[in-house]
Amino acid sequence: MHARPAGELEGTARGDEAQALLRNCVHCGFCLPACPTYRVTGNELDSPRGRIYLIKQLVEGGPVSETTRHHLDRCLTCRACERACPSGVEYGRLIDLGRELVDERVPRSLPRRTLRAGLVELLSRPRVFAVILRAGQAVRGLLPARVQARIPTRTSHSPVVLEGRHARRIVLLEGCVQPALAPGINSAAARVLDRLGFAVERVRGEQCCGALAHHLGATDRALEQARANVDACCAALDAGAEAIVSSASACGLMVKDYVRLLAGDGVYAARSERVSRATRDLAEIMEPDDLRRVGCEAGSGPRVAWQSPCTLQHGQRVAGRVEALLEAAGCTLAPTSEGALCCGSAGTYSILQPVLSDELRKRKIAALTGSGPEAIATANIGCLEHLRT
Ligand code: SF4
Ligand code: SF4
Repeated sequence: MHARPAGELEGTARGDEAQALLRNCVHCGFCLPACPTYRVTGNELDSPRGRIYLIKQLVEGGPVSETTRHHLDRCLTCRACERACPSGVEYGRLIDLGRELVDERVPRSLPRRTLRAGLVELLSRPRVFAVILRAGQAVRGLLPARVQARIPTRTSHSPVVLEGRHARRIVLLEGCVQPALAPGINSAAARVLDRLGFAVERVRGEQCCGALAHHLGATDRALEQARANVDACCAALDAGAEAIVSSASACGLMVKDYVRLLAGDGVYAARSERVSRATRDLAEIMEPDDLRRVGCEAGSGPRVAWQSPCTLQHGQRVAGRVEALLEAAGCTLAPTSEGALCCGSAGTYSILQPVLSDELRKRKIAALTGSGPEAIATANIGCLEHLRT
């Protein structure tokens, strides 16, 4: 697709990048059946190809309106279209660019901007989030059913970090909302890593990975958080940690993406590359044989339906590993359908686009439960909470 950057984009690095990204799209439409929003609405403007046309219009200084933003906002950034595209279009980068441009040309209303800024503040500050969650849990019974469904019951786990018992060291990213919503995840991850022979440490000075701010258009905030995490992770790597591990696939993807986000930063380009290269999803740290070696027995566990988060399968391109680990851990995999389809969680999407999000959740639940599994497993706290409602 040929695009000629116009206006403020003409002759700029951003304009050149947009032109190069758009050039790869040949309008073939192979991506359409992979797109969850197109599957629900059937509207070309809710498809990757339709959105790419809207972005081309933005880049060329063409007409732009609330409708343009509406269709770009409805994108889940699940990147299923990238996997389906035979031309290698980097759609994830294009949609980020499109959203930046539309926000500049059609500013959001004050209430919408306030809501988005509030979500960044609330969800990227673990202590503030934990206090508000506890307050919500305390008055849960008095709240409307829809709100109640979004507040998980309090669990009694506390994060466990085991330091210094092994020579090999790993840094476990704790995340922002996960320690309050489901503290058992990080403590379980730490125990598993300990059994496999790793000393597990916290990142001292860890901040939100920046994914929330990035996807809500708060780019400066996201970059600030990314730089702080690069500093903290480099210090851990300097001190001998061999990898940085995330037990939430959305956070892991963001940290792996620091290298691209900070590529133009003279101070942080090389440091972010080091951090991104050292970052692994939990599933990339262990092999099925490791689990068998520590005593896991095939067929000893429940029938589990596996829901692969988009950030794991489309973003990080980690496919098949968790399934093999679940089987090695004793689970039997229950057949599912539509494995590539987003569950509708997508960060704050379930709050900002509740209708589409609910529809996608219903489809995902049907696809996961058709064969009557005893449990559903996933690898991202956002998907977990969304499906749990
Ligand atoms: S599959 Fe790729 S090349 Fe074809 S329309 Fe979609 S994004 Fe463009
Ligand atoms: S990222 Fe997901 S929702 Fe957005 S256009 Fe691609 S497939 Fe559709």
